[in-house]
Amino acid sequence: MKNIKRIFIFLFVCLSIFAVNVSCSNDDKIVPPTDSTDTSGSDGDTDSTNGQVEGSEGEITLYKVNGDDISKVQDYKVKDKDLEYQKDVAKHKEIWELVKKIVPADQRKKMGEFLIYNGEVTGSAGFVIEIKKDLSVWQMGIAINYAYEGGFNAGGELAYTIIHEFGHVLTLDNTQLDAAVTQENCKNYFPGEGCALENSYINELHAKYWNDIWSEYQDAKKDEAAQAQFYEKYKERYVTQYASTNPGEDIAEVFATFTTQKDKPEGKTIAEKKILLMYNRSELVAFRDHIRKNLALRGKGNALAFELPQPGMWKQANTFGNPHKTKCRRH
Ligand SMILES: [Zn+2]
Repeated sequence: MKNIKRIFIFLFVCLSIFAVNVSCSNDDKIVPPTDSTDTSGSDGDTDSTNGQVEGSEGEITLYKVNGDDISKVQDYKVKDKDLEYQKDVAKHKEIWELVKKIVPADQRKKMGEFLIYNGEVTGSAGFVIEIKKDLSVWQMGIAINYAYEGGFNAGGELAYTIIHEFGHVLTLDNTQLDAAVTQENCKNYFPGEGCALENSYINELHAKYWNDIWSEYQDAKKDEAAQAQFYEKYKERYVTQYASTNPGEDIAEVFATFTTQKDKPEGKTIAEKKILLMYNRSELVAFRDHIRKNLALRGKGNALAFELPQPGMWKQANTFGNPHKTKCRRH
């Protein structure tokens, strides 16, 4: 009997170990949720030999912004073409000079970091992300490979990207949203980063030109075919196809069109009415004047210091962004 008992105990112990192993291996298969709100370029693995961090989204060099200047925070661990980009600091500076021309000094205070990255990994030409939870300080990333595609700022694409990206900062920062208010307690439009203030640019845009088609838009977000149908139906509301992605992309596109389009529109379509909302805000008109003066945008026949693409002609204009990401790393 004693032996049988021992055998049972032995079997029980074996089965227990087996069971623990099975459950452990199952645990290993659970993919941890990816944190899309992860900030800046501090993600990635540290290389123990030289302390360099390998970025997961094409990061090349991170700078801190100090007024007019940028100072290097870190070079990411890169190789091949990205290493060439990393060594070509003159190009980083050239891009930064264009950012400075576009974003006036008082607005530039909102930019705490500037990242040079390779956009092939994420398929983006630029992005912005908040680096302070209260939305007062942001990082701007510019894809160096696209910045020099066909030559520096060819076709004005880079300038357009910078204007579009800063349009996000302008409409999502702490003067516009309250990051402390949750979606449940938000009475106005909630773009994801926080609750839009009553008189904010994005809340006005949403209340006037999105609210009436909001449930249709929610349905359209389910797949790209539905998105395309939605856009076809409401084309006259959007300055570009990309603008129909969500109100956040819409307002960045409206700002870029408002800035790059020479003449004030008459307001015949909703897309034009959206641009006129910006003409009603004196501080945005001043921003527009600053950009146009600094980039020496003139009518046809005059020499251009920096070219801009025709409104709506930028490369991503006829695409959709991801409407499901409310807190999107790449705008
Ligand atoms: Zn965007």
